[in-house]
Amino acid sequence: MLFFAEVILPLSLAKTFTYSISEAEYHYIKKGMRVAVPFGKSRIYTALVVETHQNQPTLYDAKEIHQILDENPIVTEIQIAHWQWIASYYMCAIGDVYRGAMPSALILESETIISQKTDVFVDESELSDDEFLVYQALQQQSSLKVQDIASILNKKNIFPVIQKLIDKNILVLQEEMLESYKPKLVRYIRLHSKYESNQGLGELLETLKNANKQKEIVLTYFQLIASEKTRGETERSLAKPLTVKKLVESANSTSAIVKALIEKEIFEDYYIQEDRVNFTGETNERELQLSVAQQKAFDGIKDSFIQKEVCLLHGVTSSGKTEIYIKLIEEYLLTGKQVLYLLPEIALTTQLVGRLRAYFGNKVAVFHSKYNNNERVEVWSQVLQNSEKAQIVIGARSALFLPFADLGFVIVDEEHEQTFKQIDPAPRYHARDAAVVLANFHKAKVLLGSATPSIETYFNASSDKYGLVEIKERYGNVMMPDIKLVDLKDKYFRKRMKGHFSDTLIEGITNAIALGEQVILFQNRRGYSPIVECMTCGHVPHCQQCDVSLTYHKHKNQLRCHYCGYSIAKPTHCHSCSSVDLTTKGFGTEQIQQELVSLFPDNKIGRMDQDTTRGKFGFEKIIDSFKNREVDILVGTQMLAKGLDFDNVSLVGIMNADNMLYHPDFRAFERSFQMMTQVSGRSGRSEKQGKVIIQTYNPEHNTIQQVTNNDYSGMYKEQLYDRQIYKYPPYFRIIKITLKHRDFDKLKEGAMWLYQVISQNLNIPVLGPEEPAINRIRNEYIRTIIIKIPTNTSVVSTKNIIQKMLNSFDSVAQYRAIKVAINIDFY
Ligand code: ADP
Ligand code: ZN
Ligand code: ZN
Repeated sequence: MLFFAEVILPLSLAKTFTYSISEAEYHYIKKGMRVAVPFGKSRIYTALVVETHQNQPTLYDAKEIHQILDENPIVTEIQIAHWQWIASYYMCAIGDVYRGAMPSALILESETIISQKTDVFVDESELSDDEFLVYQALQQQSSLKVQDIASILNKKNIFPVIQKLIDKNILVLQEEMLESYKPKLVRYIRLHSKYESNQGLGELLETLKNANKQKEIVLTYFQLIASEKTRGETERSLAKPLTVKKLVESANSTSAIVKALIEKEIFEDYYIQEDRVNFTGETNERELQLSVAQQKAFDGIKDSFIQKEVCLLHGVTSSGKTEIYIKLIEEYLLTGKQVLYLLPEIALTTQLVGRLRAYFGNKVAVFHSKYNNNERVEVWSQVLQNSEKAQIVIGARSALFLPFADLGFVIVDEEHEQTFKQIDPAPRYHARDAAVVLANFHKAKVLLGSATPSIETYFNASSDKYGLVEIKERYGNVMMPDIKLVDLKDKYFRKRMKGHFSDTLIEGITNAIALGEQVILFQNRRGYSPIVECMTCGHVPHCQQCDVSLTYHKHKNQLRCHYCGYSIAKPTHCHSCSSVDLTTKGFGTEQIQQELVSLFPDNKIGRMDQDTTRGKFGFEKIIDSFKNREVDILVGTQMLAKGLDFDNVSLVGIMNADNMLYHPDFRAFERSFQMMTQVSGRSGRSEKQGKVIIQTYNPEHNTIQQVTNNDYSGMYKEQLYDRQIYKYPPYFRIIKITLKHRDFDKLKEGAMWLYQVISQNLNIPVLGPEEPAINRIRNEYIRTIIIKIPTNTSVVSTKNIIQKMLNSFDSVAQYRAIKVAINIDFY
């Protein structure tokens, strides 16, 4: 009798593969366990078992697996079913989903490159012989391929050895070393380990007899500890860690003195990642009191869950949606079920983790792709075991792939955000939509929250597919901001402009600052100014690799490509005609910041965009200093629009509303509305009514009027009408096929070929092949084909036909090298 395992490989392959296993293995292996398997000439991969069976493959000889890697499944059956849904719905390989879903330490392969972790103490006596050999080899070489280790150990089953070394924090994957993200670390202080048993404390104080300041801080340390000690803990195992900051503040001392004590080996310091601190502070004793409007919404959501699986909470900015989420989470926790809380942006997790930990203590875990492998693996297993420590998981879109044992409730906050849709690489899934499907597998409920819901979601809610609950007022009687429009044409005509600031805006800023309030200015473009132009011949410098003009960054005196990072020094003369008469056009955040410095020389100006938030904790630093009121005016891009809660901002200025409106994109008006409404929502979040000033050349534009009148439903109706006329979602599903190749003619020909076969075989609108507005990126030319599937046409059979056409495309030899990406429900 023959036995087989059906596995998924972490490669862009649509099919599962069959491997041969022994009878004993057949009885041992369960779905969701990993096995190491050979593939191709000499490669080894970590594959996932999705089935065991006795059907010999007919097309090839099944190879034997190398090794079983798990004692128990680490992927659940629901996950496998969900991943298969993603692969089929988003038209990608199941291998792509598997690879995208798993922490990379769990899918080692022979080509994986590993390194030794720097700055860690390794206790060699704790290592097994194999582990020691690997460790030793890494003393000679800074990095090794997994397959090199196979020859060092002279055996092929080496994944478990490496896995152990990763778990022990001795090895890391190379890719991780290259990542720039460093989570924020908090510095803590404790007594040096010498004093672990409390011995020698008397002498310790004796030695400090003549160092008053040092003694003082040690005494303060004991006091702070003592207030904890009543809870029956000893100093070293102190449950609530003490930050250096708190010690220095409480003792009214300085960090120099702490440093001296560390050098004397009286104290030692240590670091913990901020969002991973074991939370032992008091959870909020005070019962959270919902306002009348919040309570009504809360009841409405629960009512809607009786009938429906998904509910939309449409609450204006600052209506207190988070508090409603908290109340709902509370109820689901009582049932022992798990809660998933999705956010559009990793940067927002820190704020939210703090807020949730205050209620739920250690039950909150954070997960996102920027976490290092150990942390991701840790959360993975907590979620799999339904551990209390991860009963609530907060994360960006990839948290959706965790092995939930018993998911009860999913929240998708800011559901309209574009970042929920993955663009590259495959799977190009939408986390909101994939979450609804996941919840369905678990019979869990989904709450979508937004002040500016996407047209699709609002359509689902209005057509009764989803429940709909609205809150139209802000929490605590705070009024909606007062929005004023400034007509730029008129201001320029009457010479009321200084740089890009109208007199109205300058006056607004001046007044706010005089009252000690803060200001946010929004400009949806970074850099100094987008374009440098020759006044003599009109030449504009372009990127060498992409079809875009270069953006001028004054601070670095550079022209930079925002698509590929290419940069050159700012030219002193035109590259085309040598004229020195160069001028700049348009403006970005950097220029606004500079104008502010001269308009408001006495005030502190901050800037938040991709350029300033790049470094370690850049984002948090800027947010912190703004919250602490160290900055009076903050200029920023759309990063500012994402759910930040500042209490002292009384004015928001939108520098130019028009460049958002005229984007060549069917969602441009919807997005402009969302962006402007969200940014406006940062104004006046406490008692006093906030102000918003929008500068525009088109004050009469419908979208701008809708923002001004807080008229979501007007925006919705208008957009819905357009979407129907022009055949867009929610009436049509959009599939976008992107083709790329370095050879312009070959691409053109291939794209035309594909377009023709698809449009001949489908009886629905197929557009293209189009040259996109930016038709070359990183030296690859681009063509796109758009397919629009009306609601009365079967999506599945349409996709099947498209897949067939793509297969034939792939079998044409001269087109094989053309890269094809399929984007379903393209955003
Ligand atoms: P939204 O997410 O709807 O924009 P938030 O949830 O951030 O609004 O709430 C806005 C502000 O109101 C926050 O500072 C929040 O702490 C406060 N708030 C909301 N609801 C309550 C409540 N029931 N009790 C106390 N404070 C609340
Ligand atoms: Zn020129
Ligand atoms: Zn470029």
